[in-house]
Amino acid sequence: MSRLRAAARGRQGLPQGVGEVRKSPRRCRENPSSGKGVFPSLSTQQSAYHLFSHPVEIQAFRVNLLAWYDKCKRDLPWRKLAASESDPTRRAYTVWVSEIMLQQTQVATVIDYYNRWMQKWPTLQALAGASLEDVNELWAGLGYYSRGKRLQEAAQKVVSELAGEMPRAAEELQKLLPGVGRYTAGAIASIAYGQATGVVDGNVIRVLCRVRGIGADSSSPAVIDRLWDLANTLVDPVRPGDFNQAMMELGATVCTPRAPLCMECPVKPHCRARCRVEKELECASKRLLGKAAPTCPQAPDVEECAAGSCSLCLPATEPWDSSRGVANFPRRAAKKQPRAERTATCVLERRGPGGEPEYLIVQRPSSGLLAGLWEFPSLPLEPGLNEKQQREVVLGHIQAWAGDAVARGRLRHVGEVIHIFSHIHQTYVVYSLLLGGGAQTTASGQDGQPACRWVTQADLQKSAISTAMKKGHKRKRGCEVARAGQLKAEADSSRPRRQQLSLAAFLKAPAGE
Ligand code: SF4
Ligand code: ZN
Repeated sequence: MSRLRAAARGRQGLPQGVGEVRKSPRRCRENPSSGKGVFPSLSTQQSAYHLFSHPVEIQAFRVNLLAWYDKCKRDLPWRKLAASESDPTRRAYTVWVSEIMLQQTQVATVIDYYNRWMQKWPTLQALAGASLEDVNELWAGLGYYSRGKRLQEAAQKVVSELAGEMPRAAEELQKLLPGVGRYTAGAIASIAYGQATGVVDGNVIRVLCRVRGIGADSSSPAVIDRLWDLANTLVDPVRPGDFNQAMMELGATVCTPRAPLCMECPVKPHCRARCRVEKELECASKRLLGKAAPTCPQAPDVEECAAGSCSLCLPATEPWDSSRGVANFPRRAAKKQPRAERTATCVLERRGPGGEPEYLIVQRPSSGLLAGLWEFPSLPLEPGLNEKQQREVVLGHIQAWAGDAVARGRLRHVGEVIHIFSHIHQTYVVYSLLLGGGAQTTASGQDGQPACRWVTQADLQKSAISTAMKKGHKRKRGCEVARAGQLKAEADSSRPRRQQLSLAAFLKAPAGE
């Protein structure tokens, strides 16, 4: 034990050799906080492993990251708009829309929606005057529909209660605007108003956990709090908006979940996870050359935090796994399984005045899942119903819409569509039925009945209907992918199993002539 460490332990009243935390020599040479003159107390030293506490390192991190961002940032429409907008409130609006759309959704998907949105509602005032139906229509396919609704409600609030001026501080944005959480408030305040405040989203969580070796459950409130502290410590006071975007950009393009490009990473010198991997590689090559010293065992003894007692380290039950490399971080507690639900959905078809097919769609309630969107007449199915019972229930429901004229024999079971919402594993059991010419529905929006209307297939695509009702292609999953966008269909026995089906395909299915 070094004299300094012995002295430190003495100051804490610890006898030498008791409760000793085994520490290796500091090997991350790049860490400028290492090896400095004052030996911190044991507890400070433990937590320092997960912190940025040295101003020199913090400044180096900022400089490296911003230089990379200036050179490599993607050309995205919201960045261009924000850079060209001199009016602060208009600039904040351009950032706000993009940040809300980007929650849970891939950048590539958002671009088209963003451009159309900004063309249609270029200002807060324009959005405040829009109808919810128009908002839902433009949002259709983007998933998590309440985002669009809340964005519009917040715009109305800014116009009617805040004299058309967005709040400027992150705390105020979060407090006053519906749908604006801590992350979005920080993004708007830093990017549009230059407030030196950090942001923490999924990309930033990944980068920070790797850079500071944080292996505790990254979804736990205690860890999230620590990550916000780190983000606020690191954010560049001169260019906070660029710094925050750079952190997110790094997570999205370099420090990716499964295949991080560490060799291209501008903050590699500050990264605990990478440091550990390099030490492992160094030891492996020494072993290969027969030069491995006893100090270079199978698992290299790299600098570690207080093993076994630190609430931010990898849990003792799931220690570092060499095969995962830097992807050991971040860790999350196992996700709750989404609950399984089955819903019957009925494609009711009739011939329009010109003989073209028309389909009945019904509006969902104004609150709850997919609020205010349109769908084919649907009803939840009780578990345990056999096929015959299921059919009876569906017929009863259709009769409520189309009257007793429904010919039972025409009801066809078409197939099943599986749609994964964030918390529901939904199976749509799809039926179709061709009604007699010019069939009418019994009610629309009266006496508590939901609104309904007949639409052509082209109208259907333009209507504010959910992804589950509209699309059938399978989307890639990823850190930014909307889980609600994943759709899988299984056909009935007349179709090959596991075939990907869209509802458009169902519309062409035999409808029981
Ligand atoms: Fe991520 Fe690798 Fe960069 Fe560390 S060095 S921040 S793991 S990309
Ligand atoms: Zn630790």
